[in-house]
Parts: sequence; C-alpha cells; structure tokens
Amino acid sequence: MVKIKKERMTAQKSFIFGYLKSVKTHPSAGIVYKEVRKKLPNISQGTVYRVLNNFKEKGQVQVIDAKDTARFDADVSNHAHFICEECGNVFDVMNECVNCGVLKKKKTKVGFINYYKINFYGECKCCRPASAGRK
Ligand SMILES: [Zn+2]
Ligand SMILES: [Zn+2]
Repeated sequence: MVKIKKERMTAQKSFIFGYLKSVKTHPSAGIVYKEVRKKLPNISQGTVYRVLNNFKEKGQVQVIDAKDTARFDADVSNHAHFICEECGNVFDVMNECVNCGVLKKKKTKVGFINYYKINFYGECKCCRPASAGRK
C-alpha cells in the first residue's frame, strides 16, 4: 500500500515538475494547482503546495518574491527577474545583466559571489507602453 502511494506521489511530482519546466510564466502555486488539475483532476491543493515546497527545499526550483505571491521557476540558472507591479507578470532578464561589473567579476568588496537572485520591480511594456523607449 505504502509503495503504491509513493509511486503515485512520484508521478504527480514529475508531472508538476514537467509543467513548471514547460512554462516561462513563473506561475504561483495557485496557478500550478489550476493547470495541473486539468490533467490530474484528483490532485489536492495541499499536495501541489507540498510538492512545490519540496522542490524548493531541494533546490530544484527557485522562488521569486513577486507582487503579492511567491512565484516558481524551474529554471534555476542564474538569471534576474523583472516583476511588473501592475499586472504581476514575472519576466526573465537573461543577458542584460551579465556585463554588470559585479556579476562579471563574480565578487564584491565584501566577498565572492556563488549565485545571485536579482529582482527588478517596475511596469512592463504592456502596462506602460510609453516607457518602452525611455532611457
Ligand atoms: Zn505589466
Ligand atoms: Zn525565471
């Protein structure tokens, strides 16, 4: 019995992970639950939250502190995020930061950098089109 339960858990886990890997939208736990439930109608919200927490503890996903909810990203490579304070969308900022002196040298005055988490907060192009070309 225990074994069956464990296997089902594993299948659910890998499905959730697969879903996270397939999207670039940095979904919240609520969205993950909603999307995953389309394919796994019997999954409970508690299970989804537990699984996400487990991924987080194991470092398989990174968590982004967005507008009013935590958002999940299965891409754990070093990259910065842009969080729109209007629509709450979270965007990857992949290459624009790599030439920044601190990130290039991988060190600051106080020590060496192993990894980083950078969040930019503002309004995305959709929410504030006039700012798109602003310098
Ligand atoms: Zn926006
Ligand atoms: Zn990301």
